[in-house]
Amino acid sequence: MTVPSTTPGRATVVGAGIVGLAAASRLLDRGWRVTVVADRPATETTSHLAAAVWFPTRADPRDRVLAWGTATYAELADQARRGVPGVVMRESLTLHREDPGRPWWAPAVGDVRPARPDELPPGYRHGLRFAVPLVEMPVHLPWLAAHVADRGARFVSRRLASLDEAADPAHPADVVIAAPGLAARELVPDPSVVPVRGQIVRVTNPGLSLSVRDEAHPGGRAYVHPRTDDVVLGGTLEEGVRDATPDPAQAAAIVARCTDLVPALAGAEVLETVAGLRPARPTVRLERGVLADGTPVIHDYGHGGSGITLAWGCADEVAEHAARTLGPGVPG
Ligand SMILES: Cc1cc2nc3c(=O)[nH]c(=O)nc-3n(C[C@H](O)[C@H](O)[C@H](O)COP(=O)(O)OP(=O)(O)OC[C@H]3O[C@@H](n4cnc5c(N)ncnc54)[C@H](O)[C@@H]3O)c2cc1C
Repeated sequence: MTVPSTTPGRATVVGAGIVGLAAASRLLDRGWRVTVVADRPATETTSHLAAAVWFPTRADPRDRVLAWGTATYAELADQARRGVPGVVMRESLTLHREDPGRPWWAPAVGDVRPARPDELPPGYRHGLRFAVPLVEMPVHLPWLAAHVADRGARFVSRRLASLDEAADPAHPADVVIAAPGLAARELVPDPSVVPVRGQIVRVTNPGLSLSVRDEAHPGGRAYVHPRTDDVVLGGTLEEGVRDATPDPAQAAAIVARCTDLVPALAGAEVLETVAGLRPARPTVRLERGVLADGTPVIHDYGHGGSGITLAWGCADEVAEHAARTLGPGVPG
């Protein structure tokens, strides 16, 4: 990306999850002076606990999701090639009881082929093989925050009661980027933003390297995502559930159905069970608006179960919108 010789302006990004940090990074690429406002450390965000595999889940509209997902896949694949901390490519297998045909998201991934019978666990007749990025968030998210700070972004630890407070006379901004995840429900406010609870179990890695998922397992969604030092087992997708307390019975059920998919998990030690609230919305909101004092705002929230899958494609579009807020003739 070319960095313009003149600075286009000052941007305040609300949110330091993957969506806010990707947007901050793209704005820095274009020479903006960036302030990031967040009310908690990166380790306490939804982004940090995510399984963080590229795979569109509970996000719409499909045409925009495919475009953002395609751009994000390309960016993360490039980051994996460059050795960006925490970003790797993972061979993947999806399991199906009926022939799934070619999935709608395949154009983003490129090479998607039917699994051979010898690649399927007992009881499965169909599968798809492909490779996708996996982001080890406990490594990557703190790295990305530090990388953004190293490139000049200022971080402010502050809880906003309303998005309008982002237009702070003490730190004026030409544009505000709203990436507060689920908090958009109260901050914007946008009542169409709802939590979709997800529980995962981290277990020791018995030597696995293939991601496996069965979205239609009779016991519930099941996925197995090996990372460097553990395996993330999932999961649940519970619409409207606000309680993020881990449920031991659910954890046992997740381990059981994941072991159906990958028998080598039998005997793996449970390290941790966590639950988080996906920031879902009927459609991802990526559009321009205006705050009470007239400051332009670009909304970038409601990514549901796909924040890692879409963040960089959305960030590109945020940067385009931001450039337009400054009017013609201004580099951005
Ligand atoms: C169990 C689980 C598994 C998942 N797996 C995947 C996956 O495999 N692939 C995938 O693509 N996605 C996955 N997701 C979804 C993904 O985690 C989310 O879509 C993504 O994290 C949303 O990122 P975000 O930056 O919008 O929000 P968040 O990560 O929640 O960040 C919100 C930011 O806003 C700030 N903020 C909030 N309120 C305020 C306030 N009042 N004042 C100031 N700052 C505020 C917070 O401090 C934080 O920095 C999963 C989610 C869960 C729960």
